Amino acid sequence: MSRPKRQEQEDASEEISEVAKDILRMQLPIRIPGLGHVNMYALLDDDGAAVIDPGLPGPSTWEAITHRLKQAGLEPRHVHTVLITHSHPDHFGGAVRIHKESGARIIAHRAFHFGGPSKQKRHTGLHVHGSEDHHSEASVDDLTAHMELLERDRRRAERPIRNFFSTLKRLTTPAPWKGPADRRAISERLRWLRFATIGRKKFFPAVTHHVEHGDVLKLARREWFVLHTPGHTADHVCLHDPETGAFLSGDHILPSITPHIGGVSYLPDPLKSFFYSLDRVGEIRDVDLALPAHGHPFHDLAGRARSIKEHHHERLNEIRKIAKQIGRADVNSFMKRLFRERSWGDMAESETYAHLEHLRLAREAEAHRDEHGRLVYEI
Ligand SMILES: [Zn+2]
Ligand SMILES: [Zn+2]
Repeated sequence: MSRPKRQEQEDASEEISEVAKDILRMQLPIRIPGLGHVNMYALLDDDGAAVIDPGLPGPSTWEAITHRLKQAGLEPRHVHTVLITHSHPDHFGGAVRIHKESGARIIAHRAFHFGGPSKQKRHTGLHVHGSEDHHSEASVDDLTAHMELLERDRRRAERPIRNFFSTLKRLTTPAPWKGPADRRAISERLRWLRFATIGRKKFFPAVTHHVEHGDVLKLARREWFVLHTPGHTADHVCLHDPETGAFLSGDHILPSITPHIGGVSYLPDPLKSFFYSLDRVGEIRDVDLALPAHGHPFHDLAGRARSIKEHHHERLNEIRKIAKQIGRADVNSFMKRLFRERSWGDMAESETYAHLEHLRLAREAEAHRDEHGRLVYEI
């Protein structure tokens, strides 16, 4: 079965390109189903460069980062700033290493908290389902485990990790729509534990500068407005430079695929937040060029925001239709009708849950636990 590749799935090109004045697009390879590269943008100024979203953790990303920088006459020590649009590993991976090399400040939204176990506000999702072989890099399996871990952490954001046993206990709790019988295999739980203990320290950057909606950052010799755009994650930010019309859209708005919206979040209704953030971005005038984290730069940001919103409204309609056919059902049953089989898995379930919860919170659906402890929805 061969489908045309979407631009977000294209392999990372080694060539760098100047997409706007003093803004270089550098594609870094990522090994994630559905995505072939992540765009690290380098914003140049007299002091060196700021980079946006420096890829996955691991040596091959690092090699790509140094190679791309070199083409621009830069070395890691010239990077004075790392801005992370949101807390997914394909966006913050290189931050720790860059910080080590250059002491760069690390900027992210205030909700991006990986600093200490007592102040957790973890983040969900990743455009991942399925698994791949293990590599010395962070593999997709690891990242899935890692994201699962973050999901569980966030649901218990206010509870610090006290010790090994409480961590283990936390990790064995199934997702909110699942029942006690849906616990993970022990091997999976151990993988989460590995991330809870080793991975976190190694890969999670400590943010040195937190930003909020409306803050102004000076990068590439011009001023950028920070827009908080929760939805894809609770901590997602975009950057807008009204003067040149450049807009760094991260994963909030991608050119040809719809960003994943997971249901496990400390946002009460992630889909509603996403709609709000899409409207907010769609209303901005003075956008000439959107620079997404995956895929090519594009022009019609407002149009793209509208299409993504429409897509989710279609999905909600689809769910209403499914409910008519199957009546009361759990998240897994809705997911299996909403998604094609090749996409079935945790991420699809999480996205289905986000849509069902959106309907429930709009009082269109009711939910309760069945005899297995699973959430069942009735629309
Ligand atoms: Zn993302
Ligand atoms: Zn991404």
